[in-house]
Amino acid sequence: MVKRISVIENILNANDRLAGENRALLDASGVYSLNLMASPGAGKTSLIEHTITRLSALFNLAVIDGDLATSLDADRAAAAGAVAIQINTGGECHLDAAMLSQALVQIDLDTIDLLIVENVGNLICPSSFKLGTHKDILIASIPEGDDKPYKYPTMYRGVDVLILNKIDLLPYVEFDIDYFHQGVKQLNPDIELFTTSCRTQEGLDTWIEWINTSIKLRKRSILAET
Ligand code: MG
Ligand code: ZN
Repeated sequence: MVKRISVIENILNANDRLAGENRALLDASGVYSLNLMASPGAGKTSLIEHTITRLSALFNLAVIDGDLATSLDADRAAAAGAVAIQINTGGECHLDAAMLSQALVQIDLDTIDLLIVENVGNLICPSSFKLGTHKDILIASIPEGDDKPYKYPTMYRGVDVLILNKIDLLPYVEFDIDYFHQGVKQLNPDIELFTTSCRTQEGLDTWIEWINTSIKLRKRSILAET
């Protein structure tokens, strides 16, 4: 009789426990939090910059940036006006709850309204490692092609929100938007969908309004609980 132990399952269970602790910490400080995931080049950092610029007059923002080796993205978040923390994963292809927890202790959370986590650019595993954030968000982009939900189902299944970015490139790229949506809906019928372009600013108002409302609803429910 061979006893089999699923190593990956044990790792994910331990990660989920830590993610729960992160969520409790964020909730205790009234921080609303988003985990942004995408393949490299989908526009995570640009979207974060626009989000900071548009919301920094209303809320105090923090960005935690996961990167294989550089601090380029965190520098851009800081320049746009957010408290920015860099996590260099040392080649690791995703953030996990332990890494986030180490970054959280470096921020005065009581002063923060919105935390945006920029995950490592990778379309395979980040959504499997929950961080404890309130929403898991995937950014897809037109140049990546319309077949990505079919080829990377784990990522499309594992998120709450999908942002289809670089929508301004639609006239120039072969991208069947119905085929794309079909694939998404099959995997994740309840997903919330946004379309944006950071270049033309199309769709950004709707996206910003959604965050604005989410933060306010979160604060209201915290008040109701206490
Ligand atoms: Mg980036
Ligand atoms: Zn990974």
